[in-house]
Amino acid sequence: MLRERRQAHESAEAVQRTLDARVWKHDGVEIRHCSSGLGLFATRRFLPGQVIYSTDWLTVKGDVQDLFAQTIVDGHVALVMVTVEHMVVFEDGRWLDVPGCFANHSCAPTTTSVFHDPAGRGRVSRYDQVALVELLPGDELTCDYTRFDWGDDGLAFECLCGAPACYGTIDGFFGLPRPLQEQGAASISMEALRR
Ligand SMILES: [Zn+2]
Repeated sequence: MLRERRQAHESAEAVQRTLDARVWKHDGVEIRHCSSGLGLFATRRFLPGQVIYSTDWLTVKGDVQDLFAQTIVDGHVALVMVTVEHMVVFEDGRWLDVPGCFANHSCAPTTTSVFHDPAGRGRVSRYDQVALVELLPGDELTCDYTRFDWGDDGLAFECLCGAPACYGTIDGFFGLPRPLQEQGAASISMEALRR
């Protein structure tokens, strides 16, 4: 049954049908418009180390296309477009979850993802988004993309996070200078770890 469900999610059309089935949201967070377009924001207080939300993700295999999902934007249910830039490359597929895929990058992130393998088969299928700092309503949830993106998805960008230790160009873990890779090796996951 689980196997059938997983296979059913794999084409972009099947994932779109899954997305169409409900409003994708977590208590305590919502998407808001911000200076960088859209971002993920806290709607209540979280303490450092607290799990903000836990979620599985959807896998797209084969041709990727823009997907659409209903979620909470600025306090109301709205339709958002999930593009290839929102999807993380893993093995031969791309993973996404809504609204988590709208969290922006920061080189000094406010949250991190802790991945789980509940079936114990050596394949992570679930993660907790955990606060690294105290978050108050209206604070942005950011994450460090280099901790779960190896960098071969063809998408790189100049970071404008403004952190003193900003990496500059963000092109996955592989794109980081060697000393930063060594510092970060303990906290990488998913595709970056697999490599
Ligand atoms: Zn930065």
